[in-house]
Amino acid sequence: MSGLDDMKAALEKKLDERRAIHVERTEKESADFRAVLMSGIKIPPPSELTRRVDALGSNWNKTESVLPRTTGLVEISGSAGLKKIDETFSQLFELHSFYSTDRLAYPTVYSTTLEDFYTPMLESYDVSQTTLQEIRNQSVEEAKIVAREKGGGVWGYNLPGKGAYLNGWLFTYNKNIPPLEALSNPELAPKIAVIAIHEKLGHGFLAAYSTLGEVKTRLGLDRIELAHRFGLREAEDPVSSLRTEQHSLIFNASQFLEEGWATWLETFMGVVLFKFGDHPNHSFKAIKAAINSIPEYVPQRKEIVDKLLASMLTIFGEYRVSPEDLLTATLTLEAMGGAFQDELGQPLRYAIGERMMVQAAQNLGPLCVPYAALIAANVTFDLASLGLSDLKHLLTSDPRLNPNARLAAISRLQLTERNNVRELASRASEELNFSIPPEIK
Ligand SMILES: [Zn+2]
Repeated sequence: MSGLDDMKAALEKKLDERRAIHVERTEKESADFRAVLMSGIKIPPPSELTRRVDALGSNWNKTESVLPRTTGLVEISGSAGLKKIDETFSQLFELHSFYSTDRLAYPTVYSTTLEDFYTPMLESYDVSQTTLQEIRNQSVEEAKIVAREKGGGVWGYNLPGKGAYLNGWLFTYNKNIPPLEALSNPELAPKIAVIAIHEKLGHGFLAAYSTLGEVKTRLGLDRIELAHRFGLREAEDPVSSLRTEQHSLIFNASQFLEEGWATWLETFMGVVLFKFGDHPNHSFKAIKAAINSIPEYVPQRKEIVDKLLASMLTIFGEYRVSPEDLLTATLTLEAMGGAFQDELGQPLRYAIGERMMVQAAQNLGPLCVPYAALIAANVTFDLASLGLSDLKHLLTSDPRLNPNARLAAISRLQLTERNNVRELASRASEELNFSIPPEIK
């Protein structure tokens, strides 16, 4: 074949792949809608639903909720500055009072080339050098296309206990600034810091300090997640596919917690430490508008919209609700968790999760937020002996075993003394009957 034919064949293959992805996506969306319709969430009368959804967040005092116990601007320029963020995080949330801070004592690595950025992630998969180079070359080429076409890509990732890696190439893409200089650039340095916060102190903190994180790391579920983010396929042997299934069940049951915590923290610390950006990222108004943007042609559209809005009310409204109601509400919203990226700038699960953390900061005090996350993630599953359908049953029927539903319930507790972690622990144990990590009891 001539070079031209090769190119044509390659292009056609790419087009076919894109078509397949499109069909897959549409099918997935209608499955998500069906899941929402099947949920048993109670919908208030129409006028009450609108009035109560409109009132969400109106009594929120922004300044008071953002205020931590200690504050002070942090100088983050230069790669040494990235280390300071970990220390400031520990101080801000008084981590040393409960846990050893050592678990965060692994490096934050700023890569100046795409090759360097991909290498640690690929090396963690234990593949041969040849395969590694092959996948890396392919990933680098794909990353360039995504950056060119969408102006984005993977900004950073965390390998629990090993390193948090930042994509210096992407931060300076099309900017005419050498990657290393970005670290002292007044506009780019805070953006880089915020990604480090999201990856290492958001996801990395949960991986290092929570029971769920320990389970995920031990079974390699966090690496399956990483492979998905980088668009890599895992080996198709029975063990891997079982792991992938387990992963997707646990992933769905903990995304409000994971992304909510990481998203809340990144803007909270951004504002507190370097007066950067806005906190929080997501408003109820924007979430409501996103839900209302479901197109008219979707069958039973009104019922889907109402169920999603009613679920929001259950989690964020002021009426008393049962743990079972909170579980139904989180499952209903999670069915659409990956949607609304265009409307919200992030998928729905980031927005709902962040609002749960905002609610926790309001009711418990900001200092309690990481500990609320650890209590929510204080669940463990014996995945070696638990079948897939048993695991699914546990995660969708018992509010005390579903991390998202646990977070929803914890965020609604009202402490007598805000910012008191011990009170949070005893109230979550007594009123919600939740297991509590021994360190904060
Ligand atoms: Zn994240």
